[in-house]
Amino acid sequence: MRRLIVIAVFVVALLVIVLRLAFSAPPTIDLASPVTMLGQATPVSVHVRDSHGVRGATAVVQQNGVAHPVWQAPPPLPVKDATWNFSAGLSAVPQLQEGKAQLIIEATSNGLFRKKSRVVSDVTVVTRPPTVSVDSEEHYLYLGMAELATFNVSGSFTEAGIRVGDQTFRGWPMPGGKPGFFSLFAFAWNMPPNTVPVAYAANGAGTVVTSPLVVQFPKKEQPKYTVHELQVSDQFLQKVVGELDPNGTGDPVARFVKINNEMRKANNKTLSDLRLKTADKFLWSQPFARQSHSQAEATFADLRNYIYQGKKIDQQVHLGYDLAATQHVGVQASNDGRVVYAAPLGIYGNCIVVDHGYGLQTIYGHLSQIQVKEGDMVKQGQVMGTSGQTGMAGGDHIHFAMQLDGVQIDPKEWWDPHWIKDHIAKRVDLPGFSYSAPAAPVKASHARHSRH
Ligand SMILES: [Zn+2]
Repeated sequence: MRRLIVIAVFVVALLVIVLRLAFSAPPTIDLASPVTMLGQATPVSVHVRDSHGVRGATAVVQQNGVAHPVWQAPPPLPVKDATWNFSAGLSAVPQLQEGKAQLIIEATSNGLFRKKSRVVSDVTVVTRPPTVSVDSEEHYLYLGMAELATFNVSGSFTEAGIRVGDQTFRGWPMPGGKPGFFSLFAFAWNMPPNTVPVAYAANGAGTVVTSPLVVQFPKKEQPKYTVHELQVSDQFLQKVVGELDPNGTGDPVARFVKINNEMRKANNKTLSDLRLKTADKFLWSQPFARQSHSQAEATFADLRNYIYQGKKIDQQVHLGYDLAATQHVGVQASNDGRVVYAAPLGIYGNCIVVDHGYGLQTIYGHLSQIQVKEGDMVKQGQVMGTSGQTGMAGGDHIHFAMQLDGVQIDPKEWWDPHWIKDHIAKRVDLPGFSYSAPAAPVKASHARHSRH
């Protein structure tokens, strides 16, 4: 009897071991980033792990029923956890053809049952670079302003748009199901004047092709930025430092300058990153509206010298309009859109950002009160909050600004129905837009490239 029990316990123990081995997990395979295209030598990074060790790992590209080996895990093996980098594509397998294929990565466990895992990625083999061609329009460029270009891309590509210097503006499929793409792009206020914007397409396999736009840069008609002296009173200094750096210590002037530089930079980055929260359609159909009955106390790209006790302590560029009406006035949405930010934002105080689609967004700062929340749809003229002087503001006003794919631009063109018609509605479908030019004759210089 005792022997039987011993045998039974032994059998159960054996079963447990066998079952544990049998049900132990196979190796885990993760790709650092998904692979969708294979070009000449497309980088692949794979992370493999197994508690029993990884005995081996391979990668093959399979096309038309043929598996072409492209990689094998190097020694030492087995290894419990490893990240391997290799490349796959035409240089390793010249016989690959343009079109669909599969990248198959397989790993074998060093456990008793040599369990295998595989990860299969559907890929497109790209043997030729994409081509990009731009519209034949002459694009007039003005510092701080926006423009729209259309272009076509053929071949395989993963990304396309307009590049201006080091700034990238996404391309979007033409609205209304028409062929081709368009980009709204900015020629930033501080862009070197001889920069030529290009349409570009990248194929995700390392190839980027470009085609320059036809541009004019009318030197004499460029905006002239003005320089202002902003007197920093002790009262203003204390207000800003107390509100934005409540726990700081030390020289208030140094703290003010730090806020004006470092916090401004961080806040502008937060605003710029909102580019990713945009709709892939026009959420608006009429020209943008300016806060009613407001006066502009500062305009776009004014250079501001901050003067404290007769001494210049700082200099910044003001990338918006300061619109003042009455105190605690209702802050109106400039156009239809969706709220993508509604919270305090450093120097901007209580701040709202409304997305209008295709990377175009409006910004409202220094509010005393916010009445909308992220995700709300708003209509043009809708009151979203109350003006105030939160953040770096010395008096009650609305800081109104606009950005395009994260680059701040001058809003004034967007207030102009004539500009919207010529630069947006004539080039892409802007559903619901209606504007007929006034019957009165328009001056020739205006008709050619209107700059109101
Ligand atoms: Zn402002």
